[in-house]
Parts: sequence; C-alpha cells; structure tokens
Amino acid sequence: MEDITRTVPTSVTRTDPPRRSTTMCDHSPSCPDTDSSACCTAHVVADHSEQGWCRLCNGVILFDDGGYLTPDGRALKLAG
Ligand SMILES: [Zn+2]
Repeated sequence: MEDITRTVPTSVTRTDPPRRSTTMCDHSPSCPDTDSSACCTAHVVADHSEQGWCRLCNGVILFDDGGYLTPDGRALKLAG
C-alpha cells in the first residue's frame, strides 16, 4: 500500500517574463511605473554605484551619467 505523500508542485518557481507592472513593490506609496516620467525616483534595490549603476524597485537600471534602462529594453536619458 502506497503512502499518499504530499506532492510538491513542480511549477513552484514561476518564470514571469519581465513585463511592466509585474515587479513586486512593497513601498508605500508604491514606486512609479516604468512608463512614468518619474520612474527613476523608485527605490534603489541593488546599489552598484561603484560600478556606476543601480537597480530600482521597478526594474529600471539607473546609470551615473543620468541614462537609464527600462526592463523592456528602452534606453533613455533623464531630463535635465
Ligand atoms: Zn518599490
């Protein structure tokens, strides 16, 4: 007689494609969307300033020179 063990679902790790608004933001107020002109004001979640960049909560990569990269691959420049 076989034991009915609890089967662990194989799809535990969801591999969501990096789409906008799929980032989990715990901040309040929540960080701006990547489409927002204020997207670079999101919280820094990974500071690599020694390498000249950091990653923001909404997935934006912000560079020292004012340029930034959105999760969907757009390379933009901060105004001003
Ligand atoms: Zn956030």
